[in-house]
Amino acid sequence: MIRPIVMKFGGTSVEDASAFDRIIRIVTSHQSLRPIVVVSAMSGFTDALLASVSYAFKGELKAAKNLLEIHFERHLAVAGTLNAAPKEFAQVLTSAREEIGELLLGISSPNSPRTSLQDEVVAYGERLSSALLTDVLTAGSLPVKLVDARHCIITDDRHGRAEPEIARTQVATRSQLEPLVAAAQIPVLGGFIASTSAGRTTTLGRGGSDYTAALIGAALGAAEVQIWTDVPGVLTADPRVIKEARPIPRLSYGEAAELAYFGAKVLHPKTIQPAVEQNIPVRICNARAPEAEGTTVCEQSEISPSSVKAIAHKSGVTLVQITSARMLGAHGFLHAIFEIFNRHHTVIDIVTTSEVSVSISLDDAASLSEIVEELNALGAVHVETGRAVICVVGEGLRGTPGIAARVFGCLGDINVSLISQGASRINLTFVVEELHVHEAIRRLHQTFFEGEAATQAVA
Ligand code: ASP
Ligand code: MG
Repeated sequence: MIRPIVMKFGGTSVEDASAFDRIIRIVTSHQSLRPIVVVSAMSGFTDALLASVSYAFKGELKAAKNLLEIHFERHLAVAGTLNAAPKEFAQVLTSAREEIGELLLGISSPNSPRTSLQDEVVAYGERLSSALLTDVLTAGSLPVKLVDARHCIITDDRHGRAEPEIARTQVATRSQLEPLVAAAQIPVLGGFIASTSAGRTTTLGRGGSDYTAALIGAALGAAEVQIWTDVPGVLTADPRVIKEARPIPRLSYGEAAELAYFGAKVLHPKTIQPAVEQNIPVRICNARAPEAEGTTVCEQSEISPSSVKAIAHKSGVTLVQITSARMLGAHGFLHAIFEIFNRHHTVIDIVTTSEVSVSISLDDAASLSEIVEELNALGAVHVETGRAVICVVGEGLRGTPGIAARVFGCLGDINVSLISQGASRINLTFVVEELHVHEAIRRLHQTFFEGEAATQAVA
């Protein structure tokens, strides 16, 4: 059996005519690898479709429809510039506009099944981008075939964040796509959209197109899943802070998962899970620089000489410390603490404990005062706002002695609190004052990437 590749293009890779034009060249240069193309909605369109559903739900039907017009125009502009048959696409769009109008009317009426209708509306983002891309690639002389992703990805009926039924999805995907791949045709599918086994349209949750690409890659035993976007890959640090930051050629699945929390640009671990399970590499590629290597995420990344792959950070973090002598030797204490956060729907990020105290970091401090009030019953509570989390990541941390000394050594006079090394032992995470975070990552980047070791560090 031929092992195809899956090429997924994100919203910014289909934002306008020049972006579509780039895809023609990128797919053409990969044609011999038997590509399957997965595409997101045009950037901003999914947001607009969701906003439109909200207006309709409030009964503001006119506003709901008007909001979408500029996006329909964007599609028509691309079709007008790049399509061989712009009139046919204009017809597809006219029908879509009418169908969306009817769905919105349904949503505006009392007792409508909002969530399932919402999925029907939102699905037009990927339905239209995939139809348009098929036309554009056809005009670019590529042997493409539009496939409805809802016939491949089969899910439960949790609308808006449906979970795929893996066995059914594999069977359906293979029967839809294998014959095309075997005939050297290039299937084009919308990401993110799916259906229940009863045929109701569902969606996989925001950003779900990556998930679609990984599911298809896994079903077909792809040689690689490529995520085409507008960044050069995963970088050694945030380029807005560190101008010397550079792409990391290879990351392990574990390293990528640790980094995912820190930046939207990194793949979400859940979305690549189907590829991870089958050991299929996932590569992040830059549509604006298609020859660049990008970042490949795979089972094994070589251990870099400096043992550190990336330095990630996140500001706006709050620390909560609970101290109580009653904690010593008592059970149920952590449970009682977590239960309070749970009740206030507050996500806990990092936790460290000593015999008599617990430190917890939070991103979202919206319910902080209520939480603190309840925690007061358990012990003395101390809150520190304006903190930042720094995370040093690398498989090499597991086995290379002296890294922690280098990390904390280079920070010098910058005060560090809440130090944690995850069970995977591939990250070293700690908290500093937000005020000092940029200086801290500058020193770390210099130490691990810009000195002697720099040339080989991420080789
Ligand atoms: N269009 C969807 C979204 O904006 C899915 C995706 O882009 O991956 O969330
Ligand atoms: Mg996206």
